[in-house]
Amino acid sequence: MQKIQHFRPTRAIINLEAIKHNVLRLKEHLKKGVQIMAVVKANAYGHGDVEVAATAIEAGATMLAVATPEEALHIRKHFPNIDILILGYAPVSFAPFAAKENITLTVFSSDWVDQVKALTLSNPLKLHIKIDTGMGRIGVTTIEDLMNLYKAISSSDNLLVDGVFTHFATADEEDETYFNHQVSKFEQFISSLPVKPRIVHAANTATMLIKDQQLQYDAVRFGISMYGLAPSAYVKTKLPFPLQTAFSLETELVEVKLIQPGQSIGYGATFTATEPSYIGTIPIGYADGLIRKYSGQHVLVNGTRAPIIGRICMDQCMILLPAAYNIGEKVTLIGKQQNEEITIDEWAEKVETINYEVPCIITSRVPRIYNKK
Ligand SMILES: *Cc1c(COP(=O)(O)O)cnc(C)c1O
Repeated sequence: MQKIQHFRPTRAIINLEAIKHNVLRLKEHLKKGVQIMAVVKANAYGHGDVEVAATAIEAGATMLAVATPEEALHIRKHFPNIDILILGYAPVSFAPFAAKENITLTVFSSDWVDQVKALTLSNPLKLHIKIDTGMGRIGVTTIEDLMNLYKAISSSDNLLVDGVFTHFATADEEDETYFNHQVSKFEQFISSLPVKPRIVHAANTATMLIKDQQLQYDAVRFGISMYGLAPSAYVKTKLPFPLQTAFSLETELVEVKLIQPGQSIGYGATFTATEPSYIGTIPIGYADGLIRKYSGQHVLVNGTRAPIIGRICMDQCMILLPAAYNIGEKVTLIGKQQNEEITIDEWAEKVETINYEVPCIITSRVPRIYNKK
C-alpha cells in the first residue's frame, strides 16, 4: 500500500481479481461452515501480504495465517480485528506482544507454557496446539505430551486453548498410505482431549482440494492455490475448479544491439554469437531473485520466446532477440503475451524446484503493482 514512485521498469504485477476468484471458488467447494484461513506468510508467497489479505477477507476469508511474529505484527497494523495465527515458532518473549495484539500463537512445548505463565500478560493469550502426526517439524508427538501441554495451558486463566492442528507431509501425492496414517493419528489425538477446542484444522491446499470433506474440520489453511498454483503435478490433474494465477513479472528492453559472429556477451564471455544477432539488455538480475541458474530460461517479447543468454548479472541480464526491437519494448518474464505464456511452473522446472519457491524469492527490490483488472 506504499505509494512510492518507481522508475525502473521491472515490476511484479499482482492480479488481485485472481486471488478473489480463487477464494470465492474455494468457498463453494468447502463443506458448509468451514472457515477459510488465508495463508499470507512470506509476504503472501511474495505477492504482498496486506493487499492479498484485504482481498481474501473481502472474498470471505475469516482468519489469516503467517509464519513469524514480525509478519503477524505487520498484518495486525493493517487489520485490527481479524484472527491472526502464527503457524511457526514464536519465542516466549513475544507472548506479551501477542496477548496485547490479539495474535494467536502455535504451542507445542509445556516448558514454553511454563515460561509464559511467569510473565505478565495484559490480555488472555490464544493458543493453537500443534500435533506432529508425521511431518516431523514442530508439534507434540505423544498423547502424554499433548495431555501435559493441555493441562499446563488450562490451569492458567490467561491462556486459552483456542485450536488444535496438524500438518500433512504427503497430501499432494497419489499414494495415500502415509497421509492416512497421519489422519488416524490426528483423530486419535483430538479425541483424547477432554474438550474439543473451538477450531480444529488440518487441511493445506492439497487436502482441501482433493481429499474427503471431513478433513476440512472447522477451518482450512488456504496457501498456494489461493495464488492460483497447484501444490504438485498430481494435484494439478485433480483440481475441483480452475485456478487463476495472480503473479506476473515484467520489464522493458533498456538496450538493443546487433552483434557479429565471434562477439561474446556477459561475464565469462560464455555466449558467443555464431551469426549476426540482436541482443537485448533487461534490468533484472540475481539481486531481484532471477538467480543465475535461470540462464537459458525464455522470456516473451512481442508474443515470441527469447532465451536469457550468458551469465545473469546482479542487476541485469541479456536476451537473444528474434528481431530488432526498440528500447522500451515490454518483456514478460512470467505471464502472457498474445498466445504465448511463461508460467511459474515452467520457471520452477527450469531450476528444479517447486512453484512455491519462485515468487517467494523475487526480492523486495521488485515492486509489486496491484492490478484489479
Ligand atoms: C504454509 C503452510 C500451509 C499452506 O500450505 P499450502 O500447500 O500452500 O496450501 C498450511 N499449513 C501450514 C502449517 C503451513 O506452514
